[in-house]
Amino acid sequence: MESDWGSPGFIAEQFHRWYQSNSRTIPAPTEIRMREFAFLQFGGKTMFRHIGFPDESAFRRYLTENSPAHSYHSSCYYTHPESDMAGKGWSGADLVFDIDADHFDLPCQHEHDKWKCKNCGEEGTGKPPEICKCGKAAFEEETWLCERCLQAAKYETQKLLDILIQDLGFSPANDLVVNFSGNRGYHVHVRNQRIRNLDQSGRREIVDYILGTGIKSEYLGFNPRSKGGRPTLADEGWRGRAGRAVYDFIASTPPEEIKAMKLGRKITSLLVNERDKALAILEESHPSLLLKAVGVGDEERLMADIEKIMEMAVKEQAADIDTVVTTDIHRLIRLPNTLHGKTGWQVQTIKLDSLPDYDPLISAIAFRTGEAKVYVRHAPKVRIGDAEYGPYTQESVTVPLATAIFLLCKKGAKIDK
Ligand SMILES: [Zn+2]
Ligand SMILES: [Zn+2]
Repeated sequence: MESDWGSPGFIAEQFHRWYQSNSRTIPAPTEIRMREFAFLQFGGKTMFRHIGFPDESAFRRYLTENSPAHSYHSSCYYTHPESDMAGKGWSGADLVFDIDADHFDLPCQHEHDKWKCKNCGEEGTGKPPEICKCGKAAFEEETWLCERCLQAAKYETQKLLDILIQDLGFSPANDLVVNFSGNRGYHVHVRNQRIRNLDQSGRREIVDYILGTGIKSEYLGFNPRSKGGRPTLADEGWRGRAGRAVYDFIASTPPEEIKAMKLGRKITSLLVNERDKALAILEESHPSLLLKAVGVGDEERLMADIEKIMEMAVKEQAADIDTVVTTDIHRLIRLPNTLHGKTGWQVQTIKLDSLPDYDPLISAIAFRTGEAKVYVRHAPKVRIGDAEYGPYTQESVTVPLATAIFLLCKKGAKIDK
């Protein structure tokens, strides 16, 4: 029976046990009385929301008693968090960022993610198309994860933090909180009076800045008529960032890919045959000299080529954030340190300086003892802790509890009695 997959009763019981011993270690969000909370139970389709707590002990008691599959709090502050939306009294919101490998297009997703059309049965790997060949858009999706998607999400998070700290001036110690999402991503919360009352369009501007939307190479030094001046790679803001982006792009793009961009003959030759010279110009002098090094010719074409390079380079430097989350001023976001019902892992707050070495596949494991026997219908290979498991196809296996719960939460297995 389809509904058996995942054994929700078993997982709910394990979550309950975990919350009984760990709820007391879960800190309430800041300004708890102004936050709305929301929860989903295993097997339940309705989200319980508009919940408020007077203090941390009421909050912890709720977690122990209900042991939810998914737990959220509002990124915003309300005077009456328990009222309906109209009566809540919005009074500011943290600035939140969601970085989720679900939104990336990664080669590994074609190895571990699958979709199937509910209407005609068409199947494929990676993300489903917007519309199936049959004209319908209802898919069954199977999304797993691996070290490569987790690394990619962390890399995007680090780029985001760099922009938030270097360009926007937020204090790593006082304003920023980074959480592993418990699944395929990271959340960054900015708490600072300067952003608390920003409306949607204010937040949209921050999003545009982070994405490098509308960046034009000619205003960033890449202009043959520029008078030059000091080197710009170390400049603040997008001026330096864009220069570094172009530098990295030239340094790391293979010649075949440069040729495939179908740029002008001279610039292609400079980037392919004299790459070191091009890099030295960017490093030691002004970007305008890069254009001069290409030589005289069709200036309009050259600017269009530089713009094309800049566009691709900026995409690499910009952080891949979910823009909808950041601009939504009523957003619910996962509660740090609770469990994620699609993995059985813990949402974790990570100290900024430990982020480079943070490994969710070791740190976020919640169930550290015991084992369970599960029947796996399908699961790709995954590392959990220090060991690798799978791939499995239609087989019974006895594995550590953390692995069993992960396979069950992903609905790839059921308890084998
Ligand atoms: Zn179809
Ligand atoms: Zn992956």
